[in-house]
Amino acid sequence: MVEAETALRREVIETALEMERLGINQGTSGNISARWRDGLLITPSGVPYADLQAQDIVWLPLDVSDDADVFQQSRPSTEWRFHRDILYSRPEINAVVHTHSNAATAMAIHNRDIPPHHYMVAVAGGNSIRCAPYATFGSQALSAHAITALKDRSACLLAHHGVIALGHDLARALWLANEVEVLAQQYLLACQLGTPPLLSDEAINEVIEKFKGYGLRRKSEPDAG
Ligand code: 13P
Ligand code: ZN
Repeated sequence: MVEAETALRREVIETALEMERLGINQGTSGNISARWRDGLLITPSGVPYADLQAQDIVWLPLDVSDDADVFQQSRPSTEWRFHRDILYSRPEINAVVHTHSNAATAMAIHNRDIPPHHYMVAVAGGNSIRCAPYATFGSQALSAHAITALKDRSACLLAHHGVIALGHDLARALWLANEVEVLAQQYLLACQLGTPPLLSDEAINEVIEKFKGYGLRRKSEPDAG
């Protein structure tokens, strides 16, 4: 295994552990992938993150199918279909984080999009964070619903399930997954005072313009979005 691949496998594990530390996941729920070569590195299914070693992270080619040999030798996350389909169809995305964070999932249980109650909703690319219709975990139908809900967006909710957040790299995808949870918490809190007023399309479009070049960035990347 080349050094860069081992480093990325470790980064996938670190991201999973950080997801736990942030309190946006617990146990073995959720999963993470990162683009590597013509495929993806993805967390294995059902293994507690604290037990993961670099060699446990599974590599799948982007054109992997259900009957591929890799499934005889390893057990990638049951959600490998949506990770594969997102990385296949969105060349600008290199990392996918999936969580069952509480407030965002509470909204998803009600099949509710996160509306533009706060200007940070625009950080996912539009005037809402859509909720994809329900489908069984791990199914191709769930992947298809997620791809539709993610059109022109970098995050979505999954009805009765959780959150998907995308990023140019793992740090950005994790940051966005946490941001989606915070936005859902703020919305639910605001609902306690009545139906919250929402920002107009015009206001959100202005924020989207301002966000070009804004977002989580490393000190070495002053213009990173
Ligand atoms: P895995 O442990 O198979 O990744 O499943 C967790 C999950 O969140 C399924 O949606
Ligand atoms: Zn899940």
